[in-house]
Amino acid sequence: MNFHVMTLFPEMIEQGMATSILGRAMEKGLISLNAVNIRDYTLDKHRRVDDYPYGGGAGMVMSADPVVRCYRALQEKMQGAKHRVIYLTPQGATFTQTMAEELAREEELVFLCGHYEGIDERALEMIVTDQVSIGDYVLTGGELPVMVMMDAISRLVPGVLNNQESSEFETFHDHLLEYPQYTRPEVYEGRRVPEVLLSGHHARIEEWRRQQSILRTKRVRPELLEKAIEEKLLSKKEMKFYRELLEENEKE
Ligand code: SAM
Repeated sequence: MNFHVMTLFPEMIEQGMATSILGRAMEKGLISLNAVNIRDYTLDKHRRVDDYPYGGGAGMVMSADPVVRCYRALQEKMQGAKHRVIYLTPQGATFTQTMAEELAREEELVFLCGHYEGIDERALEMIVTDQVSIGDYVLTGGELPVMVMMDAISRLVPGVLNNQESSEFETFHDHLLEYPQYTRPEVYEGRRVPEVLLSGHHARIEEWRRQQSILRTKRVRPELLEKAIEEKLLSKKEMKFYRELLEENEKE
């Protein structure tokens, strides 16, 4: 997976990606990062990349030309490799695990980070294929959002995580939240690890974990559980467990 990021702060992205699991993945060549400074493509003698908005209003807008020129240089460097261009914006479709899974199948991803009040609409019309938001709040720039996206996507690239299972069966898999996790000691300040996890009985452990996931999702994110049921992702036995849960709730 090759990430290309167009930004005014490439060093922020490079530093953010250099450590821990992602740093190791880069060293191994499983992912690569090419952070490009949009400011290097301005023709303004003062290296300006922004200007006042037409029509007035607060703040500055990133000019179209440095962004488009930056993209064209990148395109040339990519030698015709197929790619999507994702603009990080609070106005985009909300980033989800499903989207991360879909993007992890791409070879090349180009991201565009905005700043100030955003980017001249014409540049977006000319180069952007997707607009993505990391949530309903407004940040100062697209750098943190792009790091969030690259982190979520990278851990789905084969080999990035040591144990591939740990990205397969976790929160949002089958639209369910993950079950509770425990590690040593068996008893901590009087609180015991659930007995079934010490049993060594894999089928029972698996069943308990799925039930815990259903319970948790129902309590915290009921709309996700509805989705899992709608898409028939629960087994017959799990549906029975779910119906019993509903009956118990009605009794209370
Ligand atoms: N004026 C813009 C609006 O109201 O839609 C917001 C601009 S924001 C202050 C500056 C930049 O931060 C955006 O161009 C975008 O790249 C990034 N950004 C801010 N919040 C974001 C979010 N929730 N998701 C993705 N990118 C975001």
